[in-house]
Amino acid sequence: MRSPKKSRLNGLVIKSTGSWYEVLQQETDKIIFCRLAGKLKLQKSNLTNPVSVGDLVTMEPENENSAIINAIQKRKNYIVRQSPKSKHQMHLIAANIDLAILVTTLMEPQFKQGFIDRFIMTTEPQDIPLLIVFNKADLYSNIELESYHNLKAIYETIGYKTILFSCITGLGLDELLNFMHGKISLFSGQSGVGKSSIINKIIPIANKKTSMISNYSGKGMHTTTFAEMIAIDKSSFIIDTPGIKTLSFNNLEILDVAHNFREFFSLSKSCKFGSNCTHREEPECEVLRALEQGKISKYRYQNYINILDEVESQNYWERKKEV
Ligand code: GDP
Ligand code: ZN
Repeated sequence: MRSPKKSRLNGLVIKSTGSWYEVLQQETDKIIFCRLAGKLKLQKSNLTNPVSVGDLVTMEPENENSAIINAIQKRKNYIVRQSPKSKHQMHLIAANIDLAILVTTLMEPQFKQGFIDRFIMTTEPQDIPLLIVFNKADLYSNIELESYHNLKAIYETIGYKTILFSCITGLGLDELLNFMHGKISLFSGQSGVGKSSIINKIIPIANKKTSMISNYSGKGMHTTTFAEMIAIDKSSFIIDTPGIKTLSFNNLEILDVAHNFREFFSLSKSCKFGSNCTHREEPECEVLRALEQGKISKYRYQNYINILDEVESQNYWERKKEV
């Protein structure tokens, strides 16, 4: 006799359209189409979407292939971006990530000096490890190679790995696959840097290993604001996210920026004003001293000042409007 009480299933959200969710039931490899229970939609929060790719959820089956998500398990971490629709709301991009992979290039589209550090503002608050992939290396002349080595030194000194990559020659592919093994890796980058090309290079390898791949097209990702998860094997996943146009920081205060430049934060213990120091004109500032002595990167410091200026002026205008 079957119990009259409805059974509950656990699963991993692998795709979301905002109203429908595809949830992978990992024990059976089955994909279940889900809607959200009303109570989850009504929860008060500044998030535009209560559930994202990477969320572990509990579902109540409706029939063989569909179910209602009625609980979300506590997230290990998550990535949010300012909603394109509202300045005061955040869009949940993905949850429970083991590694964030930022794809960039020193060729087309033009490399923006502050972009890596701006991206770090989205991963660092959640302590998500970061790997920076410099794509299109087949096109680099000695000038770009030198820039790459300078950037590698800057970021690896403070604990962010970088790799040189080319979809054309396959340079860096084994290294990248090693990094991703056994992890949920989130892929981000500006449009045009080659993120889809890299994923399409990984997928054929994945296809040989498993049948668990969802119908990934490599196209259409730019038209949606939602991420999609693709399985590489039983324990390794990619989360593909829409190409980034701009990264805005309405959600940040000055000290959030200071605390998420990790090498500044660790020095701030010795600043006179400790973790309240903004490392600009304060007396006895350890970050300014380290900058003078060449112990921290001028490049990072300049990017830091630029983000601070931006946050400061935007918060000034926001508050002025409120008065
Ligand atoms: P996405 O917008 O980041 O997904 O970028 P795409 O994967 O669509 O690639 C943008 C353009 O860059 C396409 O024309 C690709 O063929 C090209 N591309 C991607 N990776 C490489 C690479 O490693 N070397 C070269 N030379 N071109 C690349
Ligand atoms: Zn300081």
